[in-house]
Amino acid sequence: LIEGDPFLVYIDLTEASGLGASQLAFLSSVNRALLIAVLSAVIAAILLTILLSRRILRPIEELILGARILGKGGLDYRVPIHPNDEIGELAVAFNTMADGLSHLEHLRRQMVSDVAHELRTPISNIRGYLEAIQDGLASATPQVISSLHEEILILSRLVDDLQELALAEAGKLHLEMKVASIENIIDRTVVSLTPAMNDKSLQFRMQIPGSLPHVCVDPERIAQILRNLLVNAITYTKQGGSINVEVQSKFNFLEVRVCDSGIGIAPENIELVFERFYRVDASRNRMTGGAGLGLAIVKQLVHAHGGEIGVKSVQGAGSEFWFTLPIHNPLEAKTVEADRRFA
Ligand code: ADP
Repeated sequence: LIEGDPFLVYIDLTEASGLGASQLAFLSSVNRALLIAVLSAVIAAILLTILLSRRILRPIEELILGARILGKGGLDYRVPIHPNDEIGELAVAFNTMADGLSHLEHLRRQMVSDVAHELRTPISNIRGYLEAIQDGLASATPQVISSLHEEILILSRLVDDLQELALAEAGKLHLEMKVASIENIIDRTVVSLTPAMNDKSLQFRMQIPGSLPHVCVDPERIAQILRNLLVNAITYTKQGGSINVEVQSKFNFLEVRVCDSGIGIAPENIELVFERFYRVDASRNRMTGGAGLGLAIVKQLVHAHGGEIGVKSVQGAGSEFWFTLPIHNPLEAKTVEADRRFA
């Protein structure tokens, strides 16, 4: 036995097996070294675990804090990013989500302020007329009544457009889908706008190939899209200019182009023309157009038909608005119909 040695049990066992004193001392020192190594490894493991868990837990705590702040409306808060691991990627995704939310909030506020702006002018005009009549400064002549009526029409058109846009954005627009010829729809729309084109002495041309495939669309909505694009083309083209409507078959789609030789759109505005309430003419003169909702509605209508829409323009030279519509495929339509029946 070695006095004060902590490895008594081991030494006892080895002694029982008949080992000499030097061997016992050797074994004892090996055992001590082993124990020190094991203890060091355990301490190192504990320290490492504490260190690692702090490294992992800290960013998670930051994410939890960020989510709480975001939940309370702090949309400008962003979590710090610790790169090179999955938690870092999660933080980047969290911040991207926060960016999206704050952009949506910005759009919502913008929308409320645009609606207020658009309502203010006709309402204050109506109020002005009525107060003048009340104070005896004006009388309700047919001219005043027709001005009041015009203001009311502006208000009701704005409300109708807003409602239509809201329905379209929510995917709740009711479409009466029919197999139709795009040529017939274009013809019908152009006839109703011919007087407006004649008033400005605009040259109108149509380029439509003879045997175009049919499309399955809501003809009234497609006429609405065309009317909107053509009215804009007429509005933004000077006296004596030209307007062309072209149709082309491209893969599984028909592409309709409405081109004009009008004032065009500057490159910095081109991305924005499909935004709600966007008007290039910031003075918002009602003589040069509507509330800036027309193209936003057109875009939603095209998307509701499974098509795409875009614009190319050169400022001072003219614009080309195009949209696509999927070609009607009778076989596909039959499969869809059969699926619907067996569903
Ligand atoms: P608005 O009712 O004001 O015409 P739209 O949504 O139809 O609203 O159009 C948005 C803006 O895009 C217009 O205010 C106008 O500045 C611009 N724009 C649309 N079509 C044309 C065009 N053919 N040529 C030039 N600018 C156009």
